Amino acid sequence: MTTLPDCRALDAQDPLRPLRDLFTIPSDVIYLDGNSLGVMPCAASARVAAAVTQEWGNGLIRSWNTAGWFGLPQKLGDKIARLIGAAPGEVVATDSTSINLYKVLSAALNIAAQDAPQRKVIVSERSNFPTDLYIAEALCKERGLRLQLVEPEDIAAALTPDVAVLMLTHVNYRTGAMHDMAAVTAAAHAAGALTVWDLAHSAGAVPVDLNGADADFSIGCGYKYLNGGPGAPAFVWINPRHAGRFWQPLAGWWGHAAPFEFTPDYRPAPGITRYLCGTQPILSMTALDCGLDTVLAAQPLGGMAALRAKSLALTDLFMALVEERCAGHGLRLVTPRAHAQRGSQVCLSRGEGAYAMVQALIARGVIGDYRAPDILRFGFTPLYIGFEDVWNAVEHLKQVLDSGEWQRPEFNQKHAVT
Ligand SMILES: *Cc1c(COP(=O)(O)O)cnc(C)c1O
Repeated sequence: MTTLPDCRALDAQDPLRPLRDLFTIPSDVIYLDGNSLGVMPCAASARVAAAVTQEWGNGLIRSWNTAGWFGLPQKLGDKIARLIGAAPGEVVATDSTSINLYKVLSAALNIAAQDAPQRKVIVSERSNFPTDLYIAEALCKERGLRLQLVEPEDIAAALTPDVAVLMLTHVNYRTGAMHDMAAVTAAAHAAGALTVWDLAHSAGAVPVDLNGADADFSIGCGYKYLNGGPGAPAFVWINPRHAGRFWQPLAGWWGHAAPFEFTPDYRPAPGITRYLCGTQPILSMTALDCGLDTVLAAQPLGGMAALRAKSLALTDLFMALVEERCAGHGLRLVTPRAHAQRGSQVCLSRGEGAYAMVQALIARGVIGDYRAPDILRFGFTPLYIGFEDVWNAVEHLKQVLDSGEWQRPEFNQKHAVT
C-alpha cells in the first residue's frame, strides 16, 4: 500500500518535477482538469501583455510583418507537429476544433466522393464528443450521407463497403479509453475508408504518431493539454498525400496562395496553409505559443515518452488509492486499466451523486469535472501534477464520501458549465 511519504519520495525522484515551476497554480488548488482547460504558463501574462502594449500598441499594423504575426499559424503548427508525429509544414494552428473538423471532414468526403462515390456513410462512436457528432450530422444532411454511430467494440464490423470516412476521437472524453490509432487506421484503409482523428485529449497527453500510423486527417485542441488558454486556437493536420487535393469549404483569403494580390478568384495555397480561413486571433495565438513551450520544455527530459510514463504512474496510483481508500462508496472505474487502452484521465462512475461529489471536491480545491450523466472525471497532466497531489486528492475524495458532505444542497445546484 502506497503511503503519503512514498508519494513525497516519488516526487523527490521525479525528473519532470521542475516543469511545475513553469506554471502559475493557486496554492490551495489540486488541479485535475488540465483535460478541460490547462493551467496558465507563468510566461503567458507578460508575453500577452507585451503583445498588447508593444506589438499592438506601438507596432500597430506593422506588427503583421515585424512581430511575425502573419506566420504564427505555421510557427505554432510546427511546434505542435513535434508532439503528434507530424513533420514541419504539415500542421497549422487556427480556428476551433469544431471548425477544423468541418474543414477536414469536408475534405475527406470530397476525396471519397471522387474516388469512391458509392460510399455514403460516416462511421463514428456513439460516445464521441457531441460537437464532433453534430458537425458530422450537419455534413451528412448537407450531402445526403448517413452518420452511423457504433460502440467501440463494433467499429471493425461497421467498416462495410459503403463507408467513406471513419471519424474517431483518439482518447474518449468521457471514459478516457484510447484507440490503437495505427491498427484502427490500417483496418479502415483495408476497408477502403479514410480516417479523421480528433486529438483533443491526446495532443500533449499521450505520444501520437500520425505519420507512423498513416492517418489521413487530424484535428486537436489548444486549450486542454497544450495549455493555450481559454478558447485557444486549435490545430489541423492533413496527410501530405491529401493536403493539396481539394479546397476546404471555408476558402477564405488566409488560405489563398497570395492573399495580398487581392485577386477576385481563389487560388489555394499549397499544402496545409489552405486550411486557414481568415485573420487569426493574435493575442490568443501568443498565449498558445507559451502553452506549447511548456510542453516542449519536456523534450530535453525525455519528451512525450517521459510525460507518458509519469502520467501512467500518476493514474495507476490514483486508481489504486481510490480502490484502497474509498471502497464501499459505490464508485466504479470506467477507464480501462490497461496502459495501451487509456489516455491521461481517470473516470469514475457513481449512479447517484456524481455531480454533487465533484462540486464538494471543487469546494475543497480539488478541481475535476463532471460529465453527464454519472461520471466524475479527473485529468492528470504530468507537467504539473505530482504524486503527493494524487494522494491529497484521494484523501479529499475519501473525506467527501465518508462525511456525506456531497449531499449538502449547495453541491446539488447545477451550474451552466460542468
Ligand atoms: C474539447 C473537445 C472539443 C472542443 O471543441 P471546440 O470547438 O473547442 O469547442 C472537440 N472535440 C473533442 C473530442 C473534445 O474533447
